[in-house]
Amino acid sequence: MRRTLLSAVVLTSLFTATALAQDSKAAQSPGYTDTPMLPDGKWRVHDSARPHPAVAEPGPASGPVPAPKDALVLFDGTDLQHWKSNDGDAKWSVADGCMTINGTGDLRTVREFGDCQLHVEWASPVEVQGESQGRGNSGVFFFERYEVQILDSYGNVTYADGQAGSLYGQQPPLVNACRKPGEWQTYDIVFRAPTFGPEGGLLTPARVTLFHNGVLAHLDRPLWGATAHRSLPSYKAHESKGPIRLQDHGNPVRFRNLWIRELDLSSTPAAPSTIARAKGKAMGGSNEGAEPSKGGKVAGGAEPDGGSASARVNPDPLGNTDGKRDMDSDIAALMQQPELADTNITVQHVLIAFQGAPRISGVTRTKDEAKVLAAKVWARALSGEDFAALMKAHSNDAGGGEYPMTKQGRASMVKGFGDVGFRLKVGEIGVAPWDATASPYGWHIIKRVK
Ligand code: MG
Repeated sequence: MRRTLLSAVVLTSLFTATALAQDSKAAQSPGYTDTPMLPDGKWRVHDSARPHPAVAEPGPASGPVPAPKDALVLFDGTDLQHWKSNDGDAKWSVADGCMTINGTGDLRTVREFGDCQLHVEWASPVEVQGESQGRGNSGVFFFERYEVQILDSYGNVTYADGQAGSLYGQQPPLVNACRKPGEWQTYDIVFRAPTFGPEGGLLTPARVTLFHNGVLAHLDRPLWGATAHRSLPSYKAHESKGPIRLQDHGNPVRFRNLWIRELDLSSTPAAPSTIARAKGKAMGGSNEGAEPSKGGKVAGGAEPDGGSASARVNPDPLGNTDGKRDMDSDIAALMQQPELADTNITVQHVLIAFQGAPRISGVTRTKDEAKVLAAKVWARALSGEDFAALMKAHSNDAGGGEYPMTKQGRASMVKGFGDVGFRLKVGEIGVAPWDATASPYGWHIIKRVK
C-alpha cells in the first residue's frame, strides 16, 4: 500500500495532471481520454478535448472537375473497371453517374500508385442518419493504410482527428470545409509515399497535402504511420506503390469523378526534416517524425533500437570504457554536450529518493545515503547489469518507471529527466542529480530505451 501511494504521488508529480479537466470535457464531446498520447505529446489519439478546427464556408458545389490530360480516370460515373473488392469484382452500386457504398465492403484500385495527386468527389447521404463517426463515414486509404477521412462533418461533432479531412487518428484538418449533407464535395490530395531503407527502417514519412472543396486542409503534413483506431500509428515497410482503397463504413456515401496523376517527385526530394530513421526493422511508434542530425541521419540512428540491442551499445554517453568513473564529473561532462536532435524518446529510470524530499514518504535513507546508493546503482548499470532488475530492486518510483517524452511536452515533467534524456542515444545511461528545482525527488539513473 505504501509503495502504491508513493507511486501515485511521484507519478502525479512527474506529469501535469489534466485528467480531471479532460473528463469533464469528454462528457461534452465525443472522443477518448484513455488513449495513448500522440508522438508530439500534445493530444491523445481521438482526444475528446482536442479543439475542433474553425468552420470555413466553402464556395458552392459545382459540376465534376475535368481531369487533366495526363490523369488516369479511376471512375467516370459509368463502371468499376478500375476497382475490385476484397474477394473479386467491385460490387458497389453504380447509377446516375455515381457509385454508392452498399455494404459489400471496401473497394481498392486495380492498379497501384506511389506519389500521386488524387481528385475525389464524394457526397454524404442526403438523409442524415447517425452521429459522430456513424454519419457519412468513408475514407481514402493510400497504400490501403493511410487514411484521409471522409465524414459528414456539417454540424456533426466528432473527435477532431476523426472529422472530414482529418488524417484519421493523427491530425485534424486546418479548417472544417464540409458542405451540407448530399452536396458534392471535392478532395484534391497530394500524397507523398513514405520511403524505407534496405533493412526496412523508415527514411522519410508519408506526407499529405489536402484541399477540401478548394480550401487548404493540410499542407505537406507528415504522417506518424499507418492509420490506427484508438492506438498509436506506426510504420511497417512496404513497396513503393500500392492500391488506393475506398472505405465501406456502412454508410451510403456516393462517389463520382475520381482521377489520379502519378507524380515524379525525384527533382523535389523530401526535406531533410522528414528523414526519420536511417536504420531499423519495421517501425514502431517511437521513431516517426524524429528530427535528423546533420547529414540526414537521426542522432543515434546508426545505433540499434533499445531493449535487446542495448548490449551492443556502450551505455556510457561519454564513451568511457576504462571503468574509472566518477558520477559528479560525468554528470557535469554530459551536461556540457549538446542535446540530440531527437524529438521523441522513451526513458526508464531508477529513482533514488530520500527522506524529506517533497512528496516522498516511506523512504528512510538520508540525502547523503541516497547519493551514495545512486552512484552504486549508476556504476552497476554502466557495467551492464540488467536495468529492469535494478529498477525493481532500487527504484522509489513504483509506477514502472518508463516514460515517453517529447521535446514539446518535457516541460510537464521533472526537468532533469529531459536534460539528461535528450542527451542520450538509445541504450545509454545518465544521471539527473538531486536538485531542488530540476530534480527534487532524488537521483534519477536514466536509461534511454527508444
Ligand atoms: Mg473513415
